[in-house]
Amino acid sequence: MTNNNIDHRKDDYLVQATAKQGLLRCLAVRTTKLVDYARETHDLSPATTVALGRLMSGALLMAADLKSDQDQITLITKSDGDISNLSAIATLDGKVRGYGNQPQAPSYYHEPGKLDIAKSVGKGNLTVIKDLGLKDPYIGNVELVSGEIAEDLASYYFYSEQIPTVLFLGVRLDQEGVVSAGGMLVQVLPGADEEILTWLENRAVGFPDLSELIEQGISPHQLIDLLLGEADIEYLKEYPVTYYCPCNRDRMTSNLALLGAAELKEMAADPEGIELQCHYCSNKYQYQQSEIQDLYNAVKTAEKDFNKPDINLMDFD
Ligand SMILES: [Zn+2]
Repeated sequence: MTNNNIDHRKDDYLVQATAKQGLLRCLAVRTTKLVDYARETHDLSPATTVALGRLMSGALLMAADLKSDQDQITLITKSDGDISNLSAIATLDGKVRGYGNQPQAPSYYHEPGKLDIAKSVGKGNLTVIKDLGLKDPYIGNVELVSGEIAEDLASYYFYSEQIPTVLFLGVRLDQEGVVSAGGMLVQVLPGADEEILTWLENRAVGFPDLSELIEQGISPHQLIDLLLGEADIEYLKEYPVTYYCPCNRDRMTSNLALLGAAELKEMAADPEGIELQCHYCSNKYQYQQSEIQDLYNAVKTAEKDFNKPDINLMDFD
């Protein structure tokens, strides 16, 4: 299936394929424009751009096996490095947003031009939340094995889902901004034998730097070709990927209500009102003092009356 609106040479898009008679599941994505958009929107240093860009690219790859457009996957790192918290949320329709708590984290280098992201992220945990529209989301948690993100996501698949996974992620910058970004994921499906796994591992060893390939103009389709060679590749579908934040005033108001009456009471004391800024897109939302007071009253009543579970704070206007 092809999408004629996508320019394979330069647009951000994701392609899905199978190989080896359906025993390998392959995905590749180019995210150059959307990672640069995140860099600009959040005013990110090189280290934070690369760390967040890798996490967002990984989230898009992982979101590709969700079932419905309402489902979403959230990746969160908590660690002891300069960048101690990163999050990325992606959906099946190719939308992603991300946030790093240290936009201007200093950059360390393995060698000139090669950022040491493991040092910036440090040691800690990766949490994967799959919201599949069920009552409770699926939550998996693994230790960060490297802090370079790709290995950490692969380790999540191996330990939490028992799926052998090869994962590459890359973001490359110059003085102006992001010149290339993307990712590739190959999974060995049930039914594949040891031989296919070994074959894949051998193909992956020594595979060139992904961001360098993308900078050279190699498309996501070609990345899969390059990694798998003559492996009976069948392309399934492709779609554009973009940075998108679905925030709006109603959602912000719900978030405010979740703070609870005690905190709202303090906020309501400010005659200037308050301004909230969305973590993911930097949109600002103003609330006047009277609006905060009304919300406080609504929440206070709801808290007193917690026997009524169907009170819906979303209805507050
Ligand atoms: Zn937003």
